[in-house]
Amino acid sequence: MTQTDPAAVETFSGRTLAFTIPSRDTRGRIVRLDRALDEILATHDYPAPITHLLAEALVLAALMGSLLKDDGSQVTMQAQTEAGAVNLLVCDYKGGELRGYVDFDHSRLAELGANPSLFALFGKGYLAITFDVAKGKGRYQGIVPLEGETLAEACEAYFFQSEQVPTLIRTAVRSGGGKCSAAGMLVQHLPDGEEGRERLHARLDHPEWEHVAILAGSVKHEELLDSALSLEAIVWRLFHEEQEVRIERGAAIERGCRCSIEHYQDVLSKFPEEDRKEMRDDEGKIVVDCAFCSKKFPIEA
Ligand SMILES: [Zn+2]
Repeated sequence: MTQTDPAAVETFSGRTLAFTIPSRDTRGRIVRLDRALDEILATHDYPAPITHLLAEALVLAALMGSLLKDDGSQVTMQAQTEAGAVNLLVCDYKGGELRGYVDFDHSRLAELGANPSLFALFGKGYLAITFDVAKGKGRYQGIVPLEGETLAEACEAYFFQSEQVPTLIRTAVRSGGGKCSAAGMLVQHLPDGEEGRERLHARLDHPEWEHVAILAGSVKHEELLDSALSLEAIVWRLFHEEQEVRIERGAAIERGCRCSIEHYQDVLSKFPEEDRKEMRDDEGKIVVDCAFCSKKFPIEA
């Protein structure tokens, strides 16, 4: 692998970087959210612990979404609780478009202090990850308990339990002074079709993966977040001793939502008039909420 020149720092700005290490059956993704994260957070007015949580979730959605090949495919993360301060966290990714929101109890959150653990936030929680693959290739979902320290750990558990794919995920979030930065890396042992999957089950030791996991696991939070360090340079630092590392530009990441007056008109037109009648306000409009955008749409329907 050759080192890229420092002028290429901007190459992956706002994009995911995809890499593969063929000799180790490994693939990876790195993303650093900048403008998209600012825009998503700006649509909400969340306290610091919720901002932190959502930023991590968005990084994870971008990393997992970038594993999908078709632009029409979507990944959705939904974290739910039975008795936590956070009722629901949702974020999704489709063709580079990210969005997310958190529904939580303000007073219960305030009792938890500045730096609540994942358990404090969610209590006994669950994380559902859904891949909707475009072009009729189906939908698959896995649900894992929200255990461990971070959402990233729950996502690792998802890949291991639901897909039998050993996966290492690191996320880094820094907030302060009204600015939030978030980045992450996902590296996984790539099952090469069905054959690879069988081999994975049959063998307990994966020396080439263990080697990669040690290298990848050495990435530092500061490296992921350092905007002066290109994503290529991170790959170089971690894997420059590997025979071959292939790098590809992934999708540009943007904030995106499907809400629009037209969309809601279309949805409402499918309800029976009886139901619409009940939904109308005094002015005869139906007010629809987009939780992702914290925006209300008064619809004439
Ligand atoms: Zn919206």
